[in-house]
Amino acid sequence: MIEPGQVWLVGAGPGDPDLLTRKAEKLIRAASVLFHDALVGAGVLEHALPDTRLVPVGKRSGRHSTDQRTIDALIVEAALAGERVVRLKGGDPAIFGRTMEELTACRRAGIDVRICPGITAASAATASLGTSLTLRAEARRVTFVTAHARKGDPLDLDWGSLALPDTTLAIYMGKAAATEVSRQLIAHGLPRDTPVAWVENASLPSERQFTTRLDLLPLAARTALGDGPAIMLIGQVVAGQNLQLAGRALPPRNAANAACASADCMAVANNAAS
Ligand code: SAH
Repeated sequence: MIEPGQVWLVGAGPGDPDLLTRKAEKLIRAASVLFHDALVGAGVLEHALPDTRLVPVGKRSGRHSTDQRTIDALIVEAALAGERVVRLKGGDPAIFGRTMEELTACRRAGIDVRICPGITAASAATASLGTSLTLRAEARRVTFVTAHARKGDPLDLDWGSLALPDTTLAIYMGKAAATEVSRQLIAHGLPRDTPVAWVENASLPSERQFTTRLDLLPLAARTALGDGPAIMLIGQVVAGQNLQLAGRALPPRNAANAACASADCMAVANNAAS
């Protein structure tokens, strides 16, 4: 499935190993060396054969990590040595995954490099919330945007193009920017009561979710988020999940989630508003 000297950039999905594609699973089993992100869960790595070399090259903001040029060089070196290389990335490699750098490094070295797509965090989060990313009339557009700025740099986003009423915003890497996101989107015209959801560790047993409204987002983000990767969804699709019904029909995934179930967070939101 992988020729010696070939590289595959493989999407590992949001964490639940059952959300790997069958192709990703086959590629993981065919690898002789596997370079993986910090966000790739243990359950996914268990698919690797015992003699496959697993190399963590994780990048989590604020922590020590392998820089991108080193990762590019490691992949190229392994391929030139005749390894069957899999570069396993969280979610879909094509979304905020530094995929172009790795493709370019491989192509420059004359290496055959291919991509296997994966389920992105926004899809996993909407599935968990029990809603859709689009709505026929109220959400005709989905914008994937990262709210991650380089250390010390301001968050340089075109807020006017994000504050559109008929849009779903899926904000990746947005935890540190919650206050700025709330302030700027309201300043650029989004209603203060626009629904917002956070989903942390989407698809994993440790998943937590909560909903709030745009003006209360900073407070909610400060009090309700843990350490895991989290995605923010903003727009009418969040209201579309029908919180009351969903809350009654589905048991929370775990106790932590129960403590932060939507009803509680909406109560926080209501108190703060009054
Ligand atoms: N390529 C990945 C995104 C990488 S950027 C994808 O397609 O999903 C890393 C960001 O993705 C995290 O900071 C977080 O915002 C989001 N993310 C990744 N996995 C997640 C998960 N299981 N639950 C919630 N957000 C997640």
